[in-house]
Amino acid sequence: MHLFEFVPVSQLAEGAPRHRRSIYRSAYLDIRLREESAQGSYDYDLIVIGGGSAGLACAKEAVLNGARVACLDYVKPTPTLGTKWGVGGTCVNVGCIPKKLMHQASLLGEAVHEAAAYGWNVDDKIKPDWSKLVQSVQNHIKSVNWVTRVDLRDKKVEYINGLGSFVDSHTLVAKLKSGDRTITAQTFVIAVGGRPRYPDIPGALEYGITSDDLFSLDREPGKTLVVGAGYIGLECAGFLKGLGYEPTVMVRSIVLRGFDQQMAELVAASMEERGIPFLRKSVPLSVEKQDDGKLLVKWKNTETGEEAEDVFDTVLWAIGRKGLVDDLNLPNAGVSVQKDKIPVDSQEATNVANIYAVGDIIYGKPELTPVAILAGRLLARRLYGGSIQLMDYADVATTVFTPLEYACVGLSEEDAVKQYGADEVEVFHGYYKPTEFFIPQKSVRYCYLKAVAERHGDQRVYGLHYLGPVAGEVIQGFAAALKSGLTINTLINTVGIHPTTAEEFTRLTITKRSGLDPTPASCCS
Ligand code: FAD
Ligand code: NDP
Repeated sequence: MHLFEFVPVSQLAEGAPRHRRSIYRSAYLDIRLREESAQGSYDYDLIVIGGGSAGLACAKEAVLNGARVACLDYVKPTPTLGTKWGVGGTCVNVGCIPKKLMHQASLLGEAVHEAAAYGWNVDDKIKPDWSKLVQSVQNHIKSVNWVTRVDLRDKKVEYINGLGSFVDSHTLVAKLKSGDRTITAQTFVIAVGGRPRYPDIPGALEYGITSDDLFSLDREPGKTLVVGAGYIGLECAGFLKGLGYEPTVMVRSIVLRGFDQQMAELVAASMEERGIPFLRKSVPLSVEKQDDGKLLVKWKNTETGEEAEDVFDTVLWAIGRKGLVDDLNLPNAGVSVQKDKIPVDSQEATNVANIYAVGDIIYGKPELTPVAILAGRLLARRLYGGSIQLMDYADVATTVFTPLEYACVGLSEEDAVKQYGADEVEVFHGYYKPTEFFIPQKSVRYCYLKAVAERHGDQRVYGLHYLGPVAGEVIQGFAAALKSGLTINTLINTVGIHPTTAEEFTRLTITKRSGLDPTPASCCS
């Protein structure tokens, strides 16, 4: 049955000798007909559980390829503030989009101050209005929720606002406001994503918030303890500082685990230079609410064992995300789980033949929106469009939207060394001075980039790393080049666009091994 879901009639027949094609075609159609009549006994060809980036992409593409599709989406309120949101998933409601808007708000504040140096007459007492910012961000989100629902209706995906849980591998109960509804399908795609974790310490759930609450917070965050030094912790601390608040970042072990550690430490140093303290090697012990409403946080240094405490207005947990497997009743369907995630093979198939999974919920893959969207779309094409194209999870570019942004694609320096050996890896690097930083005399200390490459032969580029303004815009194009087999020779023979910061990649001639000073003498020669 599976085979015929993946192999289109065109391939099945056209690849065969001419005299056999009609036999294959009729065999295929016969099976297809039997399959369709079997499918007729189900309510839908496909039920997608989760209406986020992955689920929506998959559901819409499946309909385009002729399937009858329902998509369930349900958001449980947050434990501390009861925050809820509409269809569209994490990215739109409590992830990439509100984060980028708040990051932009913070960069604009910085730009207004720079504008004065460029000759604009600006009031140096300008300050942001948190409630207005939240309102603007939430208005945008509501408009996206509305467009999403219209789009689903137009594309004939049945949207069900209910929490799905399996009865068996072909049957689901959707818990709706109006009661339970039992529905069946030939195929299921699990795209339920994740939610922020809370530490298991006193006061965590009662008094701490997460990114799920931050973008709609109805009061100013004020002095904020951000626990966690991954993407979310650093990004939130970055924009809170830019908006005039006082974030402190608590780091359990290292900053930005999984990233190139030289770059990660430069990101941290650039944030510290802006006045964001980092509490290293520390873990929280408890949160208590004082009589004045402020939060008393106690923590411990994991190296010295020393305990310390301070008072904050807000405590933000940014300690990673948990896959939403619990409500799905996966044992009823027989689907395996690994550390709150669902392991899948290269087809995104789970261990149960008719059940697939995509997006953040799958085990061991990047938790990023474009990954979720492309994997969801490709899965639908394979299921219903006769495609055989698999998702390529390698060399996915990403950006950490800290005040000075960090973007990268491909291998970190340490991973390249681990994979190929130190003698086989060449690192080209350099500091640079963005032209627009000169007049406002912004710090260029951390504007740095490097290309991690093969040492000999064609010098294929394994990874590119950039710390500086508009990092995502810079790296996105280079990501296509890297996936196309970029070499150092091609990179340094590419004519730059002057004066940009992206052109610095075409000027990388100094290797770490040479020991030469990688700071630039001039910008234009
Ligand atoms: P989700 O978008 O989480 O969608 C899953 C949906 O399923 C949710 O609506 C959920 O409520 C629903 N659901 C769960 N269980 C059930 C059930 N049983 N029944 C019905 N519905 C259910 N990625 C980037 O690429 N760039 C960024 O800049 C970026 N910034 C981020 C910032 C933050 C603060 C966060 C938290 C994430 C960020 N991400 C970013 C990651 C990105 O948001 C996720 O990778 C992406 O949203 C994953 O999509 P998904 O469809 O797998 O899951
Ligand atoms: P991460 O896994 O990136 O970081 C979690 C951080 O919390 C780590 O520093 C970790 O430290 C720390 N931590 C974990 N448990 C504890 C604990 N009990 N006490 C103290 N600290 C702890 O998770 P995030 O929540 O930041 O992000 C989740 C995912 O969302 C990311 O992986 C990313 O894919 C996606 N995302 C993408 C963004 C983008 O593309 N710009 C932005 C935001 C999120 P340790 O290293 O010691 O484990």
